[in-house]
Amino acid sequence: MLADKDRIFTNLYGYQPWTLDAAIKRGDWDNTKKLLEIGQDAIIEQVKASGLRGRGGAGFPTGMKWSFMPKNPTPERPSFLVINADESEPGSCKDREIIRHDPHKLLEGALVAGFAMRARAAYIYIRGEYIREAETLFAAIEEAYAKGLLGKNACGSGYDFDVFCHRGAGAYICGEETAMIESLEGKKGQPRLKPPFPAGAGLYGCPTTVNNVESIAVVPTILRRSPEWFASFGAENNRGTKLFQISGHVEKPCVVEEAMSIPFRELIEKHCGGIRGGWDNLLAVIPGGSSVPLVPAEQIMDCPMDFDGLKALGSGLGTAAVIVMDKSTDIVKAISRISYFYKHESCGQCTPCREGTGWMWRVMERLRTGDADISEIDTLYNVTKQVEGHTICALGDAAAWPIQGLIKHFRPEIERRITEKQGGGLGTMQEAAE
Ligand code: SF4
Repeated sequence: MLADKDRIFTNLYGYQPWTLDAAIKRGDWDNTKKLLEIGQDAIIEQVKASGLRGRGGAGFPTGMKWSFMPKNPTPERPSFLVINADESEPGSCKDREIIRHDPHKLLEGALVAGFAMRARAAYIYIRGEYIREAETLFAAIEEAYAKGLLGKNACGSGYDFDVFCHRGAGAYICGEETAMIESLEGKKGQPRLKPPFPAGAGLYGCPTTVNNVESIAVVPTILRRSPEWFASFGAENNRGTKLFQISGHVEKPCVVEEAMSIPFRELIEKHCGGIRGGWDNLLAVIPGGSSVPLVPAEQIMDCPMDFDGLKALGSGLGTAAVIVMDKSTDIVKAISRISYFYKHESCGQCTPCREGTGWMWRVMERLRTGDADISEIDTLYNVTKQVEGHTICALGDAAAWPIQGLIKHFRPEIERRITEKQGGGLGTMQEAAE
C-alpha cells in the first residue's frame, strides 16, 4: 500500500482547509521560483523522465506532449495551456476532489507546466455542475494573484502568467479537447477534425496543449521530489501514483491515491473493505469510466490496475474510475443505460455517431427485455464495429466499446433473455445446446 509520506495529494479528503495558507503549510508554492529556474526544456525533460502519462484517459506521455509546443511563441501568436476539469465521464470523480480540497496544487502546476511549454496563460475549463468547486477555484485564483504567485512576474520569476477559470454548461462532449477549445471560444462545443492538432492550431488558432487536472497537479511534486521518485511506483511504462475512484458494489466506495499497477484485489481489499457480499459475489468491473469495456470477475481479480494491464484484457485504465458490479446487477440493463447516455451526449456532427448511438441503444433496450431475435446480437456487434473508428471524435468508440464488452463476455445472458421471452424457458442457449 502507498505510504502516507509518498502521497502527492495530502488533503484529498479535506481534513485541512483548501486555502493558500494551509496549502503553503503542506508544501505547495514552496520556492516555486527555484523550480522554474531550472529552465523550460529541463522541466520538460524531467517530466518525460518521470514517466508521467496523461491522467485524463488517453495515457499519452505528458512530457512528450509538452515538447510539441513551439519554442519561440510570438506576442501575436501566443501559446496556451488548457486544463480539462470537465470530468463528465460516468464514474469519474477525482478532479473534483483536487479542486475542492487542494486547488493550489493545480494552480502551482498550471504555472510550472505553462512556463515549461512557454504558454502565456492557462484556461481551466470546469464542468458546469461543479458549482461549489468552481467557487473554490475562483477564490484560490484570487488568493494566488493577491500574493503575486500568478500574474505579472509570477512568484518573482520574471515570467508573466495568467490563469482563467471558465465554467462549462453541462455537455459531456466538451470534455473532448477540441470541443473544449470550441466552447472556450464561445462556440457550440463540437469536436474539430484532427489534424491540425491543438499544438499546431488550438485555442484562437494558437498553439495549445490540453491536459487533465491530475496530470498538471502532480508536476510540482515530481520536480521537488525527483522524477526517479515518481518513477519508482508502478510497472514499467505505467509509472507514478494515481487517483483511483471506486464506486458501485464495494463496502466503502472511495477516491484514493495509490501506486499505479496495484492489483485489483489489493486495491479493493485495502481501501474499500472488499466486495459487497464477498469476492464470490463479484460479477464484472468497468475499470476506467463508462466508456471502456467491462471485464468479468475472474479476469480482473489479479490484474494490475494500469494502462497496459487492462489493455491486455481488452479494456482500459481510462480515468481509473472503477465501477464494481456484483451479481445483483442486471448487466444488460446497465450497459443499455450507458448506451442511452452516449446517445444523449452525441453532438450530432457525424452520421455513424448521431444515428448509430440511437440505433444501438434501441437494440440494447430490446435485448434487455428479450424482445429481439438471437441474430440481432451479431448485427448489433457488427454495427458497433462500423461506428468504432469512423467518427470525428472518440465518442463513437465510447458508445461502441461497452456493448462490445457485454457481447464478448455475457452473450449467454443476452441469449437467455431472448429464449425465455420467446416462451421456450430453455435457459441459456448453451444449456439448450447441451
Ligand atoms: Fe459529435 Fe459523435 Fe461525431 Fe464526436 S463522434 S464529433 S460526439 S457526432
